[in-house]
Amino acid sequence: MSYAKVLCVGLVGVTGHVVEVEADLAPGLPAVAISGLPDTALHEARDRVRAAIVNSGQRWPNRRITLNLLPATLPKFGSAFDLAIAVALLGGSGELPLLPLERVVVLGELGLDGTVRPVRGVLPMVAAAARAGLHRVVVPVGNAAEAAVIPGVRVRAVDTLHRMVGFVRDGTPLIEPPGPAPADGPDGPDLSEVAGQALGRRALEVAAAGGHHLALFGPPGAGKTMLAERLPSILPELDDDAALEVTALHSIAGLLPAGGRLLRRPPFQAPHHTATVASLVGGGSGLARPGAVSLAHRGVLFLDEAPEFGKGALEALRQPLEHGRVQLARSRGGTEYPARTQLVLAANPCPCARPAGDAYCECAPLVRRRYLGRLSGPLLDRIDVQVTLPPLRAAELMEAGVTGESSTTVAARVAAARRAAADRWAGSGWRVNAEVPGPWLRRPPWRLPERDTRELRGRLDSGSLSARGFDRVVRMAWTIADLDGRDRPHADDVREALQLRLGDGA
Ligand SMILES: [Zn+2]
Repeated sequence: MSYAKVLCVGLVGVTGHVVEVEADLAPGLPAVAISGLPDTALHEARDRVRAAIVNSGQRWPNRRITLNLLPATLPKFGSAFDLAIAVALLGGSGELPLLPLERVVVLGELGLDGTVRPVRGVLPMVAAAARAGLHRVVVPVGNAAEAAVIPGVRVRAVDTLHRMVGFVRDGTPLIEPPGPAPADGPDGPDLSEVAGQALGRRALEVAAAGGHHLALFGPPGAGKTMLAERLPSILPELDDDAALEVTALHSIAGLLPAGGRLLRRPPFQAPHHTATVASLVGGGSGLARPGAVSLAHRGVLFLDEAPEFGKGALEALRQPLEHGRVQLARSRGGTEYPARTQLVLAANPCPCARPAGDAYCECAPLVRRRYLGRLSGPLLDRIDVQVTLPPLRAAELMEAGVTGESSTTVAARVAAARRAAADRWAGSGWRVNAEVPGPWLRRPPWRLPERDTRELRGRLDSGSLSARGFDRVVRMAWTIADLDGRDRPHADDVREALQLRLGDGA
């Protein structure tokens, strides 16, 4: 036997595809050729596999070796193919009978000493195997818990190539994955811890209910960060599909918490303002790492001190926020990751971070305008809810014994409002009000009666509200009506929506 085949999985974005690793050994000058669109890591795989085989006490076949990864058209990134290549090679050389690996997917990177190392993205790889009707997988022991999250798949783990060879040759048992992890731990910060700040709490609730992006302006200590961190706690839990997608993205980033379970809470990402463009939108060699905007997919991306982010960073977020996905240019084909996230940004009114009117703030009006102006182009245009929080004494915010409504209570209202919106827009493809285009809301049957929009139209005529700002206010009015259980927004809802815009709106 001089030919063998082993199954593996390659990732394109978050989607896995079954890959056949073929090894053919022919007489001739010893050499190794790899075909099937390999990236640099795969060429390095050749050296790793050789060292691992020799250091595991196996014989390296001194023949003309051709390795082929099928389908050839599929771009292949990363080091998860190592173990499959090694096993296929030993099978092709006649050292190993590969019958036990019939319809088994083999994943893992090899160290030079023959250890099997964990790889990123095992969860979506195993999910792809299951989808393809392959229900047995062998994974690195470090990925066993994560692989076992996918239902209906028999997972076995390996720590060394030596153990793998023993399993295939003599049926030595592989390692069992750990049992299912306990349910999610404590849910994180709760809204009940934020006392006072009624405007901020209302803005947060409206943003959650309508899926609106949110901007919180205000002096340090106004509770901007406290509020933002609590947005996930009032959003609905992720459904099965979303949970799988979100967990897959964290798996590809190598950031899954130990223990292995689906992430059910909307994720929260708060990159620092010194974050690089790559860490925000993704990148890196080999299997591209998802950036913060993708790790926040179906959750919240929080930019604290937003004007401090570099111009390039803010600019780089524009396309993902608009399209709900990130396209990363690669040397061989692009990689695309989902990035449908709710943006929350916070900003101080001026670079010295002292409240307006504070005796110590010496920033000139022009400096202050310029500071917030950094946000206007790329981001602020997309944000419906923009509020300026009044300064609060710290004591007021976390007063002992005084608690606000809990996240559970607010989340119930948010869920009901989202159901109302989803019912209204059923069939149109929109799930939340933030997704509904402005012109749609200006036309019958959704157009609001003139008596309810009189003030808005006045502001439009006087130029203190732009056409886009008009649409945003109307959109928020619908969300407020949904929250309060009304079929359609009334004048009061429009008025409150207007308050949820910064100053006179823009
Ligand atoms: Zn200042």
